[in-house]
Amino acid sequence: MPKTYLAAVMPAPNVPIELREFPEPELEQGAALLHTMYSEVCGTDVHLHHGKLAGVPYPIIPGHVSVGAVAKMRGKLTTPDGDPIKEGDVVTFLDVHETCNHCYHCLVANQPNRCPSRKVYGITYSANDGLLGGWSQAIYMKPGVKMIHIPKELAPETFIGGGCGLVTALHAVDLAHIRLGESVAVLGVGPVGQSIVALSSLSGAGEIVAVDGVQDRLDFAKRMGATSTVTLKTPRKERLSQVHALTRGRGVDVVIEASGHPDAVSEGLDIVRDGGRMVVCGHYTDNGSVEIHPHWQINRKHVDLRGCWGSRFEHFHRSVAIATHSGTAKPWIGMTSDAYALKDAAIALQLVADRRKTKALIKVA
Ligand SMILES: [Zn+2]
Ligand SMILES: [Zn+2]
Repeated sequence: MPKTYLAAVMPAPNVPIELREFPEPELEQGAALLHTMYSEVCGTDVHLHHGKLAGVPYPIIPGHVSVGAVAKMRGKLTTPDGDPIKEGDVVTFLDVHETCNHCYHCLVANQPNRCPSRKVYGITYSANDGLLGGWSQAIYMKPGVKMIHIPKELAPETFIGGGCGLVTALHAVDLAHIRLGESVAVLGVGPVGQSIVALSSLSGAGEIVAVDGVQDRLDFAKRMGATSTVTLKTPRKERLSQVHALTRGRGVDVVIEASGHPDAVSEGLDIVRDGGRMVVCGHYTDNGSVEIHPHWQINRKHVDLRGCWGSRFEHFHRSVAIATHSGTAKPWIGMTSDAYALKDAAIALQLVADRRKTKALIKVA
């Protein structure tokens, strides 16, 4: 009997998730097969299920950031660190693949996330092309996929607890250039926002204000390093006064928007101090527009406004290092206290969609 693997498939937008059986793939030279340990359900998977991302080749096997053990490989494989990869090794891999390093975006603009060849596991590969997503018992590592080891001292649950949110957060925090002692407001503390709070704290920020409408998230943000919280249940004017009260009326040095609400962008421009920095990273998909007053909110304030979409290999690589060195100080492991079996992927997705879970873990093995 040929070996088969089960995977949770998203057949099309707004169609229920179903389990399908896939044959064990033949490995091309330079390829490997992982036996999945963990994958995750995040907001992007909810967007995928609602059909809000362009160019998705449904049916897909979702799950972009995952951890697995190398079950089989063909040829000699090494990590970008130069370490040999062996069967049995516990690894994670950059979900973004096939950026070409030949086009204008890759070579000149240094924006590989705009590369036309770019593919992403769990998002832009079809299930018809094989086991190319993490909600599966096995994941096919195409030749050239960049795998890195999960070090022995790093619990895979800690890394996957941060997962894609940690990687995106690192990119946003890099762009914010937080200096020691600066004040930071994080608007929206879902999985990305929680990691932004943690990384701001690790960056030596002083006051760290978390803003969200969900009390559990605000409570968790305090565990991640927030020094104060502001609930969206308070009207906007009062929220502004609360932030001003924390900063002698000046506004915060840095605002990082991670909520995906258009209004949060306008609110962030009110909260940031004159000459401060603001990074918008919550609008991974089109969530609509908002009215901005360029004179009062940008020009006159000398605001440095930056956008952040996705991440690069360096963010992924450094995220593993951060989880290894600061995974005890910052409770990423607590982000995903409940794990769901592959057959319960639909339940996990619904919980994240209903915002009853910040994110959910798929535990395969
Ligand atoms: Zn390219
Ligand atoms: Zn994600």
